Amino acid sequence: MKAIYPGSFDPVTYGHIDIIERASKVVDELIIGVLVNSEKHPMFSIEERIALLERVTGHLSNVSVKTFDGLTVEFCKINGANLIIRGLRAVTDFETEMQIAQTNHSIEPTVDTMFFTTSLEYSYLSSTIVKEIASYGADVSKMVPDVVANALKEKLS
Ligand code: ADP
Repeated sequence: MKAIYPGSFDPVTYGHIDIIERASKVVDELIIGVLVNSEKHPMFSIEERIALLERVTGHLSNVSVKTFDGLTVEFCKINGANLIIRGLRAVTDFETEMQIAQTNHSIEPTVDTMFFTTSLEYSYLSSTIVKEIASYGADVSKMVPDVVANALKEKLS
């Protein structure tokens, strides 16, 4: 079974990595899909986001990183995947995620969405929070791997 884990990953956090590690044990192949136009002003370029994701998932042999633009279900079709992986942090994620999953399924009935609930220690964690904390010069070492923390420092210096 081949699955897509789509998102902005601006930048990748331990919350994402937790989902990637857990999902990679369930499926045969996991493709992380980095969405080009998900945000108008991402902090990291597509190339930077891909490079960071590749560094932090290098230990997972069935995980690869690709970029895409447009519909997630189209990206699934192009890659021969029929499963979308998403993470759920809190009830607040549920409504939008359910809507996206139902829309995707109605556009492409062969594609289903599987949700992983966040590990408790990462339930508060988002790329936005990490960027905010880092912008005040505070320690983000519990939220992102060193390579990401250094990239944030460089960006903000
Ligand atoms: P998007 O802009 O598509 O939401 P993100 O990079 O913010 O992209 O998130 C990608 C996926 O990872 C989403 O399904 C999101 O719910 C999930 N995710 C993000 N942070 C966490 C976390 N701390 N724990 C679990 N899932 C998470």
